[in-house]
Order: sequence, then structure tokens, then C-alpha cells
Amino acid sequence: MEKRVIKKDALAGIIKNISKEMPVYAPVQEEDNVLFKVLEEGMEPLVTYANTKNAPKNFFFPQTETMMKFFRTERGRELSEVVEDSADAVLFGVRPCDARSFVLLDNVFDDPKYRDPYYISRREKTIIVSLACVHPPYTTCFCTSVGGHPVSSEGSDLLLTDLGDVYLAEFLTPKGEQLLKKMGDLEAADEALDTRKNDIYEQSEKEIKSHIPAKEIKPWLDENFENPFWDTIHKSCLACGTCTYLCPTCHCFDITDEVKGGEGKRIRSWDTCMSWLFTVETSGHNPRTSQKQRWRQRLMHKFKYFVDNYNAIACVGCGRCVINCPVNIDIRKIVTDISKL
Ligand code: SF4
Ligand code: SF4
Repeated sequence: MEKRVIKKDALAGIIKNISKEMPVYAPVQEEDNVLFKVLEEGMEPLVTYANTKNAPKNFFFPQTETMMKFFRTERGRELSEVVEDSADAVLFGVRPCDARSFVLLDNVFDDPKYRDPYYISRREKTIIVSLACVHPPYTTCFCTSVGGHPVSSEGSDLLLTDLGDVYLAEFLTPKGEQLLKKMGDLEAADEALDTRKNDIYEQSEKEIKSHIPAKEIKPWLDENFENPFWDTIHKSCLACGTCTYLCPTCHCFDITDEVKGGEGKRIRSWDTCMSWLFTVETSGHNPRTSQKQRWRQRLMHKFKYFVDNYNAIACVGCGRCVINCPVNIDIRKIVTDISKL
């Protein structure tokens, strides 16, 4: 792994130079929100933001995308698959929890049994540059409870850690080293910077104030698909889906055909298990008729089924669902309550 030093006042110029060669998506202020946007002439990325409103999963798994087109010809129905030939791009300023979400999503979309060409073509071409959370931004951050860390490099090609006057730049993968070549001459990092990084590692972990027993509830979930507890958590839920759409690890989708005349397209769109429509079948039958069943599914998927399938919890502790739920349902409280049963 290459370790270099980037002077703080040089970072904007380096990013600008890279953006002349390939699109750089970075956090920018958009009215009241911080969102990832492509950097255009004169724009600089935010580096002191807390986290973006939206999770960056949409770069690899867009909210909606066309999977194939079909049309009627004299020979019958013909299909043309639509897999974009993705271009190289940089996703700059990802927080470590969100970078880790890509590793979790890879389990689903890049499984040896099923490789999703749409996701993979974008994932392979995108270089992830993360910014360590030297001071974890929110009281709702709980990454350390679910296997992450505010200064973790998991899922990143390049991790930048703010050491005060400079960034320590750790080039972690071949894609990261490809980016290093575009960054000009950067001074090598010495051991003193490593020591400062280690101090920050410990300090940032201490600054995480929210801790939940996320890894302890699996045995209870294994045994309690039916339990009176499930009657207690869903009552105020509006089924709005905000928690799932903003979640960096939620990945369920629906597939629909749009047809006009003799041609049409097959589209995949994000779906939410919080919705009645999610499970309704063509016959009209719906195996999940209540919000109680839907909330149980959300919990089970994240803390049991995903663990069964991939040996990891499908939550990175970003806190978006906690912050943005309009009725203040808090997944941390639910997990903690289960741990006491
Ligand atoms: S954000 Fe809150 S109200 Fe909306 S579906 Fe999720 S838990 Fe229910
Ligand atoms: S469940 Fe909530 S805290 Fe966990 S990754 Fe999803 S949005 Fe973040």
C-alpha cells in the first residue's frame, strides 16, 4: 500500500485536474442538503460536511434504470439488452460507513452464482475516494456496533485522513494506485504520520457515542419469527419508505415493463419492503398484509437473513433512517429492546 501526503491547500487543485480527465462526483451543497454531484468548472467539493443526505449506492444501483428494450418486428418479438459501457469515474468524499456499504452490496450484486452486469459495469469503473470521520459527525452514528469504524478503509480505493495541516493519503487498491499516477508528485508519508493516524483511529472510536448490541440479537431472531414483541414496533410507521430509500445497504427492487405501441422497455426501480405493494402478487393475494409483518421483515433481513447468507449485518450504522424517519422510529432502540428479551 502506498502512503502519501497531500497538503490541504493542494487538494482542490488535484481534484480539479482529475476532473478534466474523468467525471468526479463529490459532496456539494444543494439548498438544505449535501448531495453527491458531478463537479463542474469552478465547483469545489465539500470536505468538512457530516454526511450526504442520500447514500451513494445510486452510483452503482440507480433509483431507476432500463435493463432491456424490446420491439415487435416481422420476425416476432426482439430484445436488446441495455448494459451501459460505463466510463471511468471518481466518487470523492465517501464516508467510511458508506464505503463499507459497497462491500456489503457486492455480496448481492456480484455473487458467483449471479453477477449483475448493470451494477458491476459501474462498480468496476469507479474509484472510491473516502474521507475518514476523524470526528464522527452525528450522535446517531453507530458504525462500530455493526463491524465498521469511523476511520476504516474497507470499501475504499483511496482513504484520506485529515491530520490537521495535511491529509494522509492511503492508496489501497490497484484502482487507488491508478489515481495516484494522476495526482502528480506527492511526498511519501513517514512513520510520524502513521502514529498520528493511529491516535486518530483510537480517538475517533471513542467519539462514537451510540452503541447497540447488533451482533447479539441473531439467536433471538432465529427463534422468534412469531413473538408478541413484533406487535410493538410498527404502530406509528407511515410506510413512507424513507428509511429504505436512504439506507446505503437496502437493495430491493421491482421490475416493470413499459410498452407503447410495438416497443417497450424493461425497467428496474428501487422498491421498499415497507410498502403494501412490495409483496402483492399478480392474483391480488398479499402474503404480508400488515405493517407489523413488514417491519419484522426489515429487521430480519438486516440482522438475520443477510447474516445467514453473507455472514454480515446489512447495516453500516450511518444513522440516516434514525435521522429521517418522520415519526422517529429508531432502529437502535428496536435492536436494544430485542437484546433484552
Ligand atoms: S421512515 Fe419511519 S415511517 Fe417511514 S417507513 Fe421507515 S419506519 Fe416507517
Ligand atoms: S439501517 Fe439505518 S443506520 Fe443502518 S445502514 Fe440503513 S439507514 Fe444506515
